[in-house]
Amino acid sequence: MDGSEFDPAAARADILRRMADAARQAGRDPAEVQLTAVSKQQPWPAVAPVLAAGQTVFGENRVQEAAQRWADHRQGLELRLIGPLQTNKVREALNLFDVIETLDRDRLAERLAAEIQRLGRAPRVFVQVNTGEEPQKAGVRPDETDAFVARCRNVYDLHPEGLMCIPPEAEPPGPHFALLAKLAGRNGLRGLSMGMSSDFEVAIRHGSTAVRVGSALFGARAHA
Ligand SMILES: *Cc1c(COP(=O)(O)O)cnc(C)c1O
Repeated sequence: MDGSEFDPAAARADILRRMADAARQAGRDPAEVQLTAVSKQQPWPAVAPVLAAGQTVFGENRVQEAAQRWADHRQGLELRLIGPLQTNKVREALNLFDVIETLDRDRLAERLAAEIQRLGRAPRVFVQVNTGEEPQKAGVRPDETDAFVARCRNVYDLHPEGLMCIPPEAEPPGPHFALLAKLAGRNGLRGLSMGMSSDFEVAIRHGSTAVRVGSALFGARAHA
């Protein structure tokens, strides 16, 4: 199939089937693993067929871009922020997103807590962990995760439902997924947002509850 014939609805059916197979092979219930369709940088003609095929959970990495893309289609969807959140965008993010996956520092936790107070409604939250300890990448360090999760709960009254990671591109992802699962387990967190187009089956074997798939679902992204 060349680019012009890429069929996102068929790609979605195939990905859902592969997800279910990977779950069963790992002795897990396929219903435990959700597909987040990463629609960032995708033109509407690529997104529309996936929406029409019944997809309701979408991931975006930029607040402004997501607000524009979903302004007329927000109803009935779950929108998840999977990119870095600046403190000056927190209010806008809370107005748009159901789930913030990228809580990674105290200043952001503090700001989120304040805006949640003001709004009287809280988003679901994941803590992002920089499992590869890459200097350019967001996320708390693995050895700081326990303390940060504790501060989220005790200082900021935020109650993360899970952890999220983006493994280093040049390394096999398995050990990173295993580390994230271990950190989640010892902190009593059930959610694991891990696995992308190239490695979602590996992530499911390691316990992923939410895979974030973009290019395999919509086709290659337009580069900004
Ligand atoms: C873009 C992105 C994805 C999707 O990546 P693909 O390789 O296109 O599936 C997943 N997670 C995050 C955090 C992203 O920024």
